[in-house]
Amino acid sequence: MPGIESLTEVLVDELRDLYDAEKRLTKAIPRMAKKAANRTLRAALNNHLKETNRQVRRLEQAFRQLGETPRGKACAGMRGIVEEGDEHTGEEFETDALRDAVIIGSAMRVEHYEMAAYMGAIEHARILGQSGVRSLLQETLAEEQAADKKLQAIGQQVNPAAAEAGMEEEDGGGFGRSRKSGRKTGRRRAAKKR
Ligand code: FE
Ligand code: ZN
Ligand code: FE
Repeated sequence: MPGIESLTEVLVDELRDLYDAEKRLTKAIPRMAKKAANRTLRAALNNHLKETNRQVRRLEQAFRQLGETPRGKACAGMRGIVEEGDEHTGEEFETDALRDAVIIGSAMRVEHYEMAAYMGAIEHARILGQSGVRSLLQETLAEEQAADKKLQAIGQQVNPAAAEAGMEEEDGGGFGRSRKSGRKTGRRRAAKKR
């Protein structure tokens, strides 16, 4: 017996993959938010967590419209992206801004992976004439795109602050950068003293 016999089955599989990915994110986003020091970043992540919970519900509606029971199928891609995110954001950072810069990068990888997956599923729903499923998925895609744009904008605030880390070690060199951007551990500064 062949495995997948129709584009509808392909679409259902894509929804299962997304269902698992979104559910995984309802657990991963709070971990990211907890690590974020920048208030705007933390608020954006918490807001996207709320959206993600609604996205899970939307996928359940899409399954029902296709006459299927909502069921996830392990998304290895998102598992890997989340694993990497936990690993990268869990490093030791000299300043909060440096960690925030890494959190933004990790979160943007998540959004882009989701966007690609939704775009593929939307196109399949369109070809199949599943306009209800298509518009549910489009609603979510718009949220992912907005989340990505928001992260990009926050990055423009955070990255210049992150760039200041380590600059004050050029003391006497005339760079004169302040370090109001983040908390210092003092470890590296102490090591630099002659
Ligand atoms: Fe999502
Ligand atoms: Zn996947
Ligand atoms: Fe998202």
